[in-house]
Amino acid sequence: MTEFSLELTEDQLQIQKWVHDFAETVVRPAAHEWDEREETPWPIIEEAAKIGLYSLDFVSQCFLDPTGLLMPLIAEEMAWGDAGINLAIFGTTLAVAGIFANGTEEQIGEFLPQCFGTPDDIKLAAFGVSEPDAGSDVSSLRSRARYDEATDEWVLNGTKTWITNGGIANLHVLVLSVDPELGARGQASFVVPEGTPGIRQGQKFKKMGIRASHTAEVILEDCRVPGRCLLGGKERLDERMARAKEGRRSSSQAAMATFEASRPTVGAQAVGIARAAYEYSLDYAKERTQFKRPIIENQAVAFKLADMKTRIDAARLLVHRAAWMGRVGKHFDNGEGSMSKLFAGETAVWVTEQAIQILGGYGYIRDYPVERWHRDAKIYTIFEGTSEIQRLIISRAISGRHIQ
Ligand SMILES: Cc1cc2nc3c(=O)[nH]c(=O)nc-3n(C[C@H](O)[C@H](O)[C@H](O)COP(=O)(O)OP(=O)(O)OC[C@H]3O[C@@H](n4cnc5c(N)ncnc54)[C@H](O)[C@@H]3O)c2cc1C
Repeated sequence: MTEFSLELTEDQLQIQKWVHDFAETVVRPAAHEWDEREETPWPIIEEAAKIGLYSLDFVSQCFLDPTGLLMPLIAEEMAWGDAGINLAIFGTTLAVAGIFANGTEEQIGEFLPQCFGTPDDIKLAAFGVSEPDAGSDVSSLRSRARYDEATDEWVLNGTKTWITNGGIANLHVLVLSVDPELGARGQASFVVPEGTPGIRQGQKFKKMGIRASHTAEVILEDCRVPGRCLLGGKERLDERMARAKEGRRSSSQAAMATFEASRPTVGAQAVGIARAAYEYSLDYAKERTQFKRPIIENQAVAFKLADMKTRIDAARLLVHRAAWMGRVGKHFDNGEGSMSKLFAGETAVWVTEQAIQILGGYGYIRDYPVERWHRDAKIYTIFEGTSEIQRLIISRAISGRHIQ
């Protein structure tokens, strides 16, 4: 019988330490500067590429870890360093997940190396579903992909919004509607490789948090990509749409397959931010003296820290469970992927707010990192499915009812 254990393997511990060292010595010291500059931190991405952290090899190693835990372990350490810089470095992996989830072996072999490039010629990738009128409701995408049989090309038109690395990415994976009447089941993922005419960046957004990560609109104007850029291939798409037209069930659609796989990793980033704020406020509470004693000696402060630590550990356990289930092929019968992202995201918002309270006035000013962590944490209840959408997924899964 296999023994139950929550212990990490030697390999996992070593890699976790390696990434932690990078987060501590390179990422965290740069966090304030890039938050203020609101720009992609190219020098830090270069550093990550130089040591092999930003590379196809390393990301493949994480994806292929048999326990599924390596990806969330790395994400937690990196977001502990800085969530915005982490996303600037690893935003590419969302496109990688999109290619893995929907692509053929051949497409995986062709497109994944193009997502990373080499340390001397770094490439970034982006994954775009959201549109101005289709955020939570991804079934109502307006952007269209039309097949041109004469040239075996797909012609892409429309506007994607809030896309991480949008427009600055070398390769974009975009979900578009082929047959709008079929809703989500009439959609497919397309790769737009570097140098394709007809794709450009629209507005770049100024944000509340994760400001080192670039977020922008992506505009498609008669953007033509070869037939082989349809992930999964035309035959599979035609079969899927035929099944949908006959009202038969089909496997999950393009965007959802990607989000399901990436939710625990997103949850792990939220855990990383929460842990950073908890550790900082714990140290602060031991140092800061008021009424002639360290503030931690007040239950009001110490109990806050006890609750912060408990919720962080609970969030991490949910994240690791979902990551393990996803890797070993256990179905999320109760929305376990959503649970991990929901709880971790809300924990990060709550914990970082408590941390501000523990620091008092110092928590509110930009000289200290705590207010930044709170701003960074908030996105985790919004992107990759809002908290409400996660609750919808969980409640539908546990009830079998179509909760509205
Ligand atoms: C910084 C940032 C980076 C992002 N990166 C990407 C990216 O790389 N790729 C990408 O495709 N997208 C990205 N997004 C988009 C993100 O996924 C969407 O913002 C998110 O899905 C919510 O969509 P929305 O903003 O249109 O909100 P809406 O869907 O309009 O929701 C507004 C509010 O209504 C609630 N609501 C909506 N429908 C329901 C319902 N049925 N039941 C209950 N409540 C509901 C929501 O929970 C929310 O509170 C990013 C967004 C941001 C801000």
